[in-house]
Amino acid sequence: MGSNHELIYIGLGSNVGDRKLYIDRALDLLAKTVAIRAISSIYETDPVGYKIQAPFLNSVAEIQTLISPHDLLKRFKKIETEVGRQPRFHWGPREIDLDILMYGNRIIDTPNLTIPHPEMYRRDFVLIPLREIAKNLVHPVLQKEIQDFRCPEPLQIRHFA
Ligand code: AMP
Repeated sequence: MGSNHELIYIGLGSNVGDRKLYIDRALDLLAKTVAIRAISSIYETDPVGYKIQAPFLNSVAEIQTLISPHDLLKRFKKIETEVGRQPRFHWGPREIDLDILMYGNRIIDTPNLTIPHPEMYRRDFVLIPLREIAKNLVHPVLQKEIQDFRCPEPLQIRHFA
């Protein structure tokens, strides 16, 4: 199968300002350079890590592109800036956050890019929307389907839109 057939899964999150608008804007900008194949519902989740901040809206999308994983990450950073992300501390509030969750079956471990995303199978805000669009997707390292992962610290998660 050529690299253009690889299915890529991405996570989108926002917890500042008009959260849904930021997610929609990011998807609009993404659609200019990649093919968006599926988008999950949006969920509202309490923050993980640094907990004294507003709840997040999260969703995931399935995309296809010939752009390499590292170039896709660069593209994501550019889109985050265009959408209006302000620089803040790690784990802090963000207008928009774009993550590469999986890139086909590729396993990448470099200082600035880890794929599959190391937190993806531990977070309900990834697992629950991902189950909607790709429940039989197999994690290439853990060799387990998305529908079979259970989040170790379940948080409040509500269907939003
Ligand atoms: P964040 O604060 O969530 O925007 O992420 C900070 C950094 O995580 C980025 O600048 C990336 O270099 C790094 N990173 C490592 N793996 C990934 C991934 N799979 N998707 C997105 N960012 C990643």
